[in-house]
Amino acid sequence: MPQGFHPVKSILNYIGGEFVRGNLEFADVNPADGSVIAQVSHADESIVDQAVQAARKALRGAWGRLGVRDRAQRLHKVADAIETRFDDFVQAEVADTGKPAAVASRLDVPRAAANFRAFADLIKTVGLESFYTETPDGKSALNYAVRKPLGVVGIITPWNLPLLLLTWKVAPALACGNAVVVKPSEETPATATLLAEVTAEAGIPHGVYNVVHGFGPNSAGECLTRHPDMNAITFTGESQTGAAIMKTVAASVKPVSFELGGKNAAIVFADCDFEDTVNGVAEAVFLNTGQVCLCAERVYVERAMFPRFVEALKHKAEHLRIGSPLDCATELGPLISAAHREKVLSYYRLASEEGATVVAGGGVPEFGNTLDKGFYIQPTIYTGLAESARCVKEEIFGPVCHIAPFDAEEEAVAMANDTRYGLAASIWTTNLKRGHRVAQEMNAGITWVNCWFLRDLRTPFGGMGLSGIGREGGMHSLNFYSELNNICVRL
Ligand code: NAD
Repeated sequence: MPQGFHPVKSILNYIGGEFVRGNLEFADVNPADGSVIAQVSHADESIVDQAVQAARKALRGAWGRLGVRDRAQRLHKVADAIETRFDDFVQAEVADTGKPAAVASRLDVPRAAANFRAFADLIKTVGLESFYTETPDGKSALNYAVRKPLGVVGIITPWNLPLLLLTWKVAPALACGNAVVVKPSEETPATATLLAEVTAEAGIPHGVYNVVHGFGPNSAGECLTRHPDMNAITFTGESQTGAAIMKTVAASVKPVSFELGGKNAAIVFADCDFEDTVNGVAEAVFLNTGQVCLCAERVYVERAMFPRFVEALKHKAEHLRIGSPLDCATELGPLISAAHREKVLSYYRLASEEGATVVAGGGVPEFGNTLDKGFYIQPTIYTGLAESARCVKEEIFGPVCHIAPFDAEEEAVAMANDTRYGLAASIWTTNLKRGHRVAQEMNAGITWVNCWFLRDLRTPFGGMGLSGIGREGGMHSLNFYSELNNICVRL
């Protein structure tokens, strides 16, 4: 467990194995107390271009000639190096995001190493399709597919799980033999930069992993998506940003993969295991201060249990320990930024205007110390909103949910599915037959039954509707990050 922040003074771009300074800088702010922890070097168009050219050169060099076995070995070394520098990664992630060190240690950093191991193992064992072909006019042939890298892949990521989501894309992209230019969120530049040091230590050739820092529109993010030599773009972030990127990328017809927002539902049946369900739903609503795309912001509870459940979740919300991310007992850190807190608070105000009953929270906590300069917010529960209310329809991305009662299974399914998003859902019942039935009715990329955020990295992950395009995980990632070429040999 880290003992304190070790501020990074300067965070630079990383191109072709060198740290590169830009002409402009922007501040990296610690959300727990508003202090500036680093100055980040901003990549302009020419620096982004240098990164893309470095990646292209790496593909023509040693990396392009490396066999699958050697690539996999180096990815395992990256995982080893992440584990060796575990505390550095935890400290950097905690300082950037304000998430409790306990969460970064349990979730973010172990998952980063696991991402590299999963795709290193998979790429070694995965087979490809082949067909013995007989045509109607009597010819025969052997058809088989070969997997080739796409080339240079642009990876653009958000701030909520910076290292976890970045490595979820970098690992399969490298496993398939691509070179990458990554653009982490301007809010959380540190761990992508630490990963640069680690990839070099692990023997990933220079130019295979490049980092450019900056913002989205008219900045490094847009330069990356506009760049003519980029072969594919993979993006995790807001749905509206996905739409903007899609428009930019359309001009050059590149493959895109989008993991976008959500407005996820939890359905609680009266026959659930009450204690497990309250704990599970509380985690689904409040983990990472509600800043996980999979968080449940809509909770539907069977009417017979509604008052008891609301009371129990209120108790949970009011007893979550809010505080310094460095305190082992802290369960809830701050939101990422002052701007994001203002956005979430605007929804808290809107909920009251829309007629909500405030069950818990609704404001900003007071500490009487430096944490008052941080971007903390109270975990909040509402009831009484119409299903058409904006607070029930729009992604808030904070520690907040609305709880509504239902009478019949079909009604719960209809309410849960009444959204333009389609990322995740959870069903809570001891009747497994019903669990399977309702799960299959959900319009969501992933539905959990009696759990939440339990992930097998081989399974398809992604969203429907506004929640994204494509699937990542296991084979789905490998298929996105490669070109499958068919070879037909006349026999
Ligand atoms: P965001 O869309 O504001 O930013 C994400 C990244 O895109 C940042 O690096 C940003 O600089 C860049 N960007 C912004 N505009 C751009 C543009 N026009 N061109 C190129 N790049 C651009 O998202 P955020 O606020 O960082 O993250 C929160 C959002 O991410 C939420 O909506 C959340 O649901 C979503 N999210 C989805 C998943 C998933 O797997 N589906 C996972 C995590 C977060």
